[in-house]
Amino acid sequence: MKAAVVTDFTQPLELQDRPIPEPGLGQVLVRMETCGLCHTDIHAAHGDWPVKPTPPFVPGHEGVGVVDRVGEGVTVRDVGDRVAIPWLGHACGRCDHCVSGWETLCEQQQNSGYSVDGAFAEYAVADADFVVTVPDAVSPRDAAPLTCAGVTTYKAIKVAGVRPAEKVAIFGVGGLGHLAVQYARIVGGIVVAVDVDDTKLELARSLGADHTVNAATTDPVAAIEALGGIDVAVVTAVIPAVFEQAFAALRRGGRLVCVGLPPETDGPMSLPIFPTVLKGISVIGSIVGTRQDLTEVFELHAAGRTTVVAEPRKLDQVNESIADVLAGRTPARLVFEF
Ligand code: ZN
Ligand code: ZN
Repeated sequence: MKAAVVTDFTQPLELQDRPIPEPGLGQVLVRMETCGLCHTDIHAAHGDWPVKPTPPFVPGHEGVGVVDRVGEGVTVRDVGDRVAIPWLGHACGRCDHCVSGWETLCEQQQNSGYSVDGAFAEYAVADADFVVTVPDAVSPRDAAPLTCAGVTTYKAIKVAGVRPAEKVAIFGVGGLGHLAVQYARIVGGIVVAVDVDDTKLELARSLGADHTVNAATTDPVAAIEALGGIDVAVVTAVIPAVFEQAFAALRRGGRLVCVGLPPETDGPMSLPIFPTVLKGISVIGSIVGTRQDLTEVFELHAAGRTTVVAEPRKLDQVNESIADVLAGRTPARLVFEF
């Protein structure tokens, strides 16, 4: 089978012909139909983050495909099921995080395309209990971006506890942000989209943003204050200064939800203590979402509540696709089709 493999953090991905993996105990073998390209895959390929994957490995955690074989002991999946392979490839199911509905915080977790091989390949094995059913009403091309970009921003809106008519700013309208705008709308938020690219801002408006702010041509904090401030900021950008701008634009009682992950070398964000205390600000980190969250994301999409903006690519184009994402030359998401 064809697979895109990271052999070295300083080298482009290598297209290799690998044997089709065997599904082990409790695993399924999935014949991939699509896999989205997430910024995390690029950070993985470059070894940008403190905990690094170990080359050689296959990235990809927005995998969607059909179960081709089931391993020993699998009772919950059948051959022919369409499933998604998300970032949360496995969690222990027994720790306090897992049993309290926070499997995404499990310390024993495995991550698809990072600690275990992912879906930039014609086939991938995955834990049968951690793949998520893709309903027939959701196309494989749409399902891929929903599997990480969708669930991650859906969860961010959930943890922000947005109430109807609250003002919600989405910083960064890319693969994640274009979906965050829509989830913020679904829960009744008045949405402000912030980006440095007018094309992205137009996209945000077409997806339901009430206001847009171009942070390249105006001071986003002043522009948001002119709109009356925001109650919630969801930051999908990967620049520490943007987190600081988002914080500064919050009203009293506001919540800053941190989603984007800058490279470690970009340093920390600074958090001024006085306004945090006096304005009663909450700073919340939000990492992907659970299997239940992803099921809800698919249900919303099947019900016609969300629109996925994605462009198909072939796996052979993996390196040029990464270059296109880094240069901002892409629509919201790129999706490899097999
Ligand atoms: Zn991702
Ligand atoms: Zn656990």
